[in-house]
Amino acid sequence: MAVAPLYKTQELKIYNSISGQKEVFTPITEGNIGMYVCGPTVYSNVHLGNCRTFISFDLIYRYLKHLGYKVRYVRNITDAGHLENDGDQGEDKVSKKARLEQLEPMEIVQRYTLDFHNILGKFNNIPPSIEPTATGHIVEQIEIIKTIIDNGFAYVANGSVYFDVKKFNETNHYGKLSGRNIEDMIANTRELTAQSDKKNPQDFALWKKAEPEHIMRWPSPWSDGFPGWHLECTVMSTKYLGEQFDIHGGGMDLKFPHHECEIAQGEAACGVTPVNYWMHANMLTLDGKKMSKSTGNILSPAEIFSGDSDKLNKAFAPTVARFFMLQAHYRSILDFSNDALEASEKGFFRLMESIETLDNLKTNVSTEGFDVQIWVKECYEAMNDDFNSPILIAKLFEAVKFINSVKEEKATLSKADHKLFQQTMNQFVFDVLGLVNINEASSDISDKLSGTVELLIDLRAEARANKNFATSDKIRDELLAMGIQLKDGREGTSFTLN
Ligand code: AMP
Ligand code: ZN
Repeated sequence: MAVAPLYKTQELKIYNSISGQKEVFTPITEGNIGMYVCGPTVYSNVHLGNCRTFISFDLIYRYLKHLGYKVRYVRNITDAGHLENDGDQGEDKVSKKARLEQLEPMEIVQRYTLDFHNILGKFNNIPPSIEPTATGHIVEQIEIIKTIIDNGFAYVANGSVYFDVKKFNETNHYGKLSGRNIEDMIANTRELTAQSDKKNPQDFALWKKAEPEHIMRWPSPWSDGFPGWHLECTVMSTKYLGEQFDIHGGGMDLKFPHHECEIAQGEAACGVTPVNYWMHANMLTLDGKKMSKSTGNILSPAEIFSGDSDKLNKAFAPTVARFFMLQAHYRSILDFSNDALEASEKGFFRLMESIETLDNLKTNVSTEGFDVQIWVKECYEAMNDDFNSPILIAKLFEAVKFINSVKEEKATLSKADHKLFQQTMNQFVFDVLGLVNINEASSDISDKLSGTVELLIDLRAEARANKNFATSDKIRDELLAMGIQLKDGREGTSFTLN
């Protein structure tokens, strides 16, 4: 007889941002889940903050799969339409970078998409089921705009198409996700600038007519132009998950306007509200401030892996950084610091060591000093409570303590419990949390390795100062051949591991 999937016996609760409450999770189709997460805008290297959001959703994806659901996980790549300042004015982020670097926009897209995949792979994130791009769905975007115009919720002005927020709000509720009141918003905004084509400043672009210098452009019934940033997510989620689907996620900073606009577009186009559970992951901060590309307050994953930053005392393995992030709940703000990461690293190695100890633990006739069944139940309860990974990790450390007492013969473990214990520990640590077992010795080697590279950087600088270019070039080229790339900058030479 086939074993019933776990979701039949586990009651999962998800905090739904739209109701502000934890709700029992029930998918539209039993056993199946459609999940959409807003992906990156590929105009620069991902920073650690971005990674936190994608790791949060990787945890969620992993647990849903662990419960036995068949999950279709769609995460887009934003390769057009996302303008500077996240609004309707200014240059496209991708074309701006292309202009500055004198490259084709698609070269920028390719470079940073590869970086994104490479870094998330290092963090052991599972790739989504579908990863659609905005530029691959221009035709669908044009079609949905036509529908929204036909339904009376958008207007054409000077070759651009805008969503009519005020009109929409007469029959629907704009602001239901972010708790904003449109009447107040209209009353509190300054007059529209004379050159704006919008009826109200809250209206947002579905299609923008391209200025002559705008290189990323496509023909449409209204103008040669490009689609609005909010629209791509509506189009791609509808195409691959249907007009109504289970879970939509993204970083907290996307709640307004991006997700609010997605709800409005979905309702305006399809007449139904698109998403049942809205999930928002909280921010990673550095020195108490949000990590953000635009302010430059960032740490890159490469800096973490190499230890090459004045914010760090040493290098950290990707799985240790992942563990550090999972020690906070996905809805809490997490502040990054070297000390916090060092503390996580200690805990991480303790956990890994005890998993190895568990494998070789001597069993006994009965279990004394710990109730394995209750412990298993509590691990599930932690994750069923809105994916509470810090509580789960606390439970795992209770297990570590027990494993050590069995080892020291202060407690005993029965053969049957040993099997369940081992299985549950492995499932939660590796399948659900997605950690990778590396041992302290290999991590210690990578610390020493970065010290060695620093030494070679100093020797190369010395060689250059002495005009011994043969030696300095040899150091650079041979390191590169080993996958260690030196980068000369204003503040000296740094390195990345390719
Ligand atoms: P972007 O490429 O800017 O569109 O961002 C990609 C994702 O990273 C979005 O879901 C953002 O909400 C998220 N994000 C940006 N900054 C941070 C941060 N400091 N901490 C966590 N997530 C972030
Ligand atoms: Zn989106």
